[in-house]
Amino acid sequence: MDELRELYQEVILDHSKAPHNFGELNPCTHHANGDNPVCGDQISVTLNIENNCVKDIKFNGSGCAISIASTSMMTDIIKDLPTSTLQILFDHFHHICTTDCDPMDHPELDHIDENHFTKMAILSGVRQFPMRVKCATLAWHTLMAAIEHIDTTSTE
Ligand code: ZN
Repeated sequence: MDELRELYQEVILDHSKAPHNFGELNPCTHHANGDNPVCGDQISVTLNIENNCVKDIKFNGSGCAISIASTSMMTDIIKDLPTSTLQILFDHFHHICTTDCDPMDHPELDHIDENHFTKMAILSGVRQFPMRVKCATLAWHTLMAAIEHIDTTSTE
């Protein structure tokens, strides 16, 4: 447990200090803004999707370490993935952030790199702090809004 807590802090610090894929794609095919008013996290994502595949993604914004780390990690995870996998990954991540039950089983998830699952599992440590779950899932809510061409989404 202590080891997991240490890992959790390490991963969050790494990503929040030096976020991956920070910036803005211009032009882009999809974009959305996400807002978590409870904590004050505000992010925006821009994507280029070609042939139903995420070619590139960048994000901008400001917020707590968890929201920035989670968004940074998400951009790493979904690059080069087919868009059909995104909702399943979001469901998986939301599930492990909110319950202690076994992770979901889904054939689409078999294609995902093991490292990505490990990172998501580490980040799901937020479930010990229910107030922070929205910080961790904001990135994914914003991603799904962008895919559905919804301009702005809020966790409230
Ligand atoms: Zn936050």
